[in-house]
Amino acid sequence: MSIICDHVNYIYSRGTSDEIHALKDVCFKIEDGEFIGIIGATGSGKSTLIQHLNGLLKATSGHIYINGEDIYDSDYSLKKLRSRVGLVFQYPEHQLFEETVLKDVCFGPKNQGLTSTESQMRAYEALENVKMGEDCYDVSPFDLSGGQKRRVAIAGVLAMKPEVLILDEPTAGLDPEGREEILHLLKSLHDEQGITIILVSHSMEDMADYAERLLVMDKGSLIMNGSPREIFQNSAILEEIGLSVPQVTGVLREMRQKGFDVDISATTIEEAADSIMRALGL
Ligand code: ADP
Ligand code: MG
Repeated sequence: MSIICDHVNYIYSRGTSDEIHALKDVCFKIEDGEFIGIIGATGSGKSTLIQHLNGLLKATSGHIYINGEDIYDSDYSLKKLRSRVGLVFQYPEHQLFEETVLKDVCFGPKNQGLTSTESQMRAYEALENVKMGEDCYDVSPFDLSGGQKRRVAIAGVLAMKPEVLILDEPTAGLDPEGREEILHLLKSLHDEQGITIILVSHSMEDMADYAERLLVMDKGSLIMNGSPREIFQNSAILEEIGLSVPQVTGVLREMRQKGFDVDISATTIEEAADSIMRALGL
């Protein structure tokens, strides 16, 4: 599924003294099957932007095209769009509410009009995808660990079989193990099932390791759009807007300043190790 954001503006509390211009003339295209990262300081418009991609918020001006169709056309089904573009909110575990894990994950497919049996089949598959075994089906979601709750919440969205999965800071507040589990899950959904992933994250390391392309937001505007390698070359701009480069890229820059002839475009640990070995002639 291709997504085009065409000169999108969004204004909260329009016409009041609290008016906030949260998105300013945002334009980009996302192709089917990409793994996109969205970065930007707090308040830069990331959450507002992603809620436009499944029609949850409607642009004040501008258009969103899904597979070439304008989602604001009067005969476009936003309900269908919401099951094709799954959105996992920040701290999604706060939205778990059923008595058992299985019931919770069945909620989405049931809402789509599937029968109980079909919904359960979807739930089994989604829970398997997020590595939650049968032993969790009858457990109350409230009795799970933080990482498990989050995986169940993601399963709830996967059970609707979205073609695009958008996640708002899905690793926030998790320990390193929990973070890795979620990131691996996203990578396998992308690599094995061809699901388009749009990931909002604060971690430049995660972005360098997983995203194929980054969209950089600053004060409501999209200011950069490119591969992590390209984006992380602009450390001065990133710092100016309250972001950083991956730590290993920072280390290479320091080495360069101290006179080592290292390639400073490396963004992952592996690339950095290669770059240092080459500089040392090893
Ligand atoms: P981010 O996700 O990058 O932190 P947001 O999209 O949440 O940014 O916020 C962008 C801007 O819109 C901020 O100035 C924020 O205060 C404002 N904003 C976000 N949500 C609302 C809302 N529901 N009502 C009014 N203003 C909001
Ligand atoms: Mg946000």
